[in-house]
Parts: sequence; structure tokens; C-alpha cells
Amino acid sequence: APAAPALVIRDLTAGYRGVPAVRGVTLEVAPGGIVALLGPNGAGKTTTLLAAAGLLTPLSGTVTALGSPVTGRVERTARAGVSLIPDDRGLFHRLTVAENLRLAGGRAELDEALDRFPQIRGLLKRRCGLLSGGEQQSLAIARTLMRRPRVLLIDELSMGLSPVAVQAILPTLRRLADETQLAIVLVEQHIDQALSIADSAVVLHHGAVALAGPAAALRADRDQIQRAYFGR
Ligand code: ATP
Repeated sequence: APAAPALVIRDLTAGYRGVPAVRGVTLEVAPGGIVALLGPNGAGKTTTLLAAAGLLTPLSGTVTALGSPVTGRVERTARAGVSLIPDDRGLFHRLTVAENLRLAGGRAELDEALDRFPQIRGLLKRRCGLLSGGEQQSLAIARTLMRRPRVLLIDELSMGLSPVAVQAILPTLRRLADETQLAIVLVEQHIDQALSIADSAVVLHHGAVALAGPAAALRADRDQIQRAYFGR
């Protein structure tokens, strides 16, 4: 039987001061699955992730993580193993790489994270703010993995990354999902690259789902994606 979904967002309406920014969004990700969350600026991708992480209480709809309802409760969401990497990555720029990692857990978790991102071993004494965009994103992911999440939400993965760095990090996420059954929701501007590692994709436009389906099918029909982006 297929595994129960790690995260289910059902019919989510959420926004700010009672004004919806997303309406009726449904999305689910299986253990070991990657969902690409796509759409133009202001489409509601960040809002969806904030609600999924329990940081924003929905106006209606539900969020279920590993079978438990966690809607609007960040402490429950975190306990259920849902972690969010915000688009600014939430790193402490004045601290060293080692100090940033030490804040997230103990030695065992650290060794595991460094095995997954070996390039970070050589950077431990560097000040975080001096790292490249790709190094910072790797550090942000490694640090979050130390909390042993079951669901990882990543906002704007490639913001501030060179094309080469994007090419390097996406396959790492795929391996992570395959090898550890981590479920990933990935907000990404590089549509083709995101679809090449994702299992499925959801395209938002003006706060609603404009298109959703298996990544392979969406890759095969670029026009469909273009239309969804522009809301036609
Ligand atoms: P971007 O790529 O620009 O971050 P996005 O798809 O992540 O876009 P959201 O950030 O979720 O989109 O924004 C959706 C809508 O909600 C936009 O119209 C935005 O202006 C509005 N919005 C976002 N944050 C707030 C806030 N804190 N207060 C009020 N409105 C907000």
C-alpha cells in the first residue's frame, strides 16, 4: 500500500488581518516525495508554507502532519516534524558556521548533517555572513536536518544562488528525500530545474491553485505551465 502522506494541506484559505492571500489550496506530499510549489511573485507560495508550518492560522481548511491535525499550532507542527527554511534562511550572519550548527542540536545530529553536506566541514570556522549563497543554503538545510524533521518546507531555495549552486543543491535534495524518506515542499523560481527533481508540482496564481499534477506531465507541457503562471 502507498505510504500515508507526510503532510496534507486541505482546502486552505489563509491571509493577513482576515484578508485571504490564498484560497482553497490543497497539496499533499508523501514520505520521500518532493512537491514543487510554483507561481509568480505574490501568488501565495510563502503564505502557504507559513500556514503549513503552523506560523499562520488558516481562516479555513486544515493542515495534517503525519496523521495529526496541526492546523495553526506551530508547536504541534514542529513536534510532528515539520520544519521551515524561510527565504532569508534564518542564519546568524555574525556567528561562525560551527556556532550556527551548535544551536540546532548535539554531536550525533551534527555528524549526520555534515555527512550529508561534507563541503560544510571545511567551513566550520568561517563567519556565516561571508559564505556564498550556495554555502549558506547548504548550511541552512544542514542545520534544519539536525532537528530530524519528517517534512521540510523550503522557501525560495535558489534566492541568491548562482546557477551552478542551484544545479548542485537540487540533486542533494532528491537524494535526501530518496534515502531518508524526508518529504519536501520546495518553492523555486527555476521551473524546469524544480520539475526535474520533483515528483509533483502545484502552480499558484493569485492565491489559488491554477495547475497541479505529476512533475513529468507538467514538464512535457510547457505551454500549460506558462498559461497557469499568467492565469489564462
Ligand atoms: P513572493 O515570491 O513574492 O514571495 P509568494 O508567492 O510567496 O510571492 P506571498 O508572499 O504568499 O506570495 O504573498 C501573497 C499575497 O499576500 C501577496 O498579495 C502579498 O502582498 C500578501 N502578503 C504577504 N505577506 C503579507 C503581510 N505580512 N501582510 C499583508 N499582506 C501580505
